[in-house]
Amino acid sequence: MSFPRLLLLPALLLTIVVIFWPKKTSPPTPPAGPTAPLIIELADLIERPHWNELDRFQHTISRETFLHRLTTIYTKTDVWKKWITVTNDHALIGDYQLHFASSDQPAPGAIWDWKERLSPTPDLPLKGLHLAIDPGHIGGAYAKLEERHHEYPNLHPEMKPIQEGTMTLETAFLLKELLEEKGAQVTLVREKCEPLSPYLEENFHNPRLFYRTSEIRARAKLINEEIQPHLVICLHYNANSSGPLSSEQHFHILLNGTYSESELANEDERFAMLQRLLSGVIDEEIPLAAHLSAIFSKKTQLPAYQYSRLSTVSQNVALNPFLWARNLLANRLYMCPVIFMEPYAMNSTKFISRYKKNPRAIYQEYAHAVAEGIVSYYATAQ
Ligand SMILES: [Zn+2]
Repeated sequence: MSFPRLLLLPALLLTIVVIFWPKKTSPPTPPAGPTAPLIIELADLIERPHWNELDRFQHTISRETFLHRLTTIYTKTDVWKKWITVTNDHALIGDYQLHFASSDQPAPGAIWDWKERLSPTPDLPLKGLHLAIDPGHIGGAYAKLEERHHEYPNLHPEMKPIQEGTMTLETAFLLKELLEEKGAQVTLVREKCEPLSPYLEENFHNPRLFYRTSEIRARAKLINEEIQPHLVICLHYNANSSGPLSSEQHFHILLNGTYSESELANEDERFAMLQRLLSGVIDEEIPLAAHLSAIFSKKTQLPAYQYSRLSTVSQNVALNPFLWARNLLANRLYMCPVIFMEPYAMNSTKFISRYKKNPRAIYQEYAHAVAEGIVSYYATAQ
């Protein structure tokens, strides 16, 4: 039987296909996608201190002043004795020896001279003052991530969310204008609801390291290396830990201090504490905060906030009910006097009802009260 001609061509094609069919290979590798993000850990964000930077404070502080600041502001118990030995004429901090002066001498700033005097005129009492305003947190699209976002869709469906970092920025813009009217040079540490951190959220396993640690360290770098002001005002709005049903509002100012045992155990924190202690920021911070708190509490009618007496991380300062010493990243790292404001309670019924009516009235009240306090202090301090 002859092969039907009709089938000849398909048979030939089939043979060709079988011969040239590609051999089975391993599954193709997918095209190269974006590389996995670099992961940043806490240790990557911390710089090891150079203890010889404290040489500028040799023979500037008396033993009495050193011990007084250490025990009334920077620590609450004698845990510091684990790391600091005080003899008659020097303090030994690890291997570093700091010599006391027989009486207090003018001390320099830890990095720059924030003590140079102003040049006020009657119309411009803040002339010569360079002030940095740090609007706390980031706000906007970051408010939920940083847990500074309050909304109550059932109770207050029409209200736009309360976002701390957005409100502090609004307040900062108003405060800047008021201080400039009185002659100050004012720099905002941020001008948008955007992070300053050079990293992205995806660079961290722990988001707090992004929005808190790396963000505040980026702000500290800007303040300490570029802005170098006479003073930093950190603006915050407080919140009640008890939640939104409490009506209670209050006010306090946080100055850097009350280092706990675990904080002192960190070499970088111990070093920063000594930079603050030796440069004498507290001598500027206490009278300024006292002045500011008197005017602020009078204008806002907010009562003093009270921490627990048993707290190991806070203590009352200078017998002033509004002033508390606490070691926060911002008030530790900004290497000049720092006034850290904590007024109102964003999640209180009183705040919410004011916010619903007119949020701007709150920002105005806050900014005017701070500006008046600062003007009044510098006008009398000259
Ligand atoms: Zn805050």
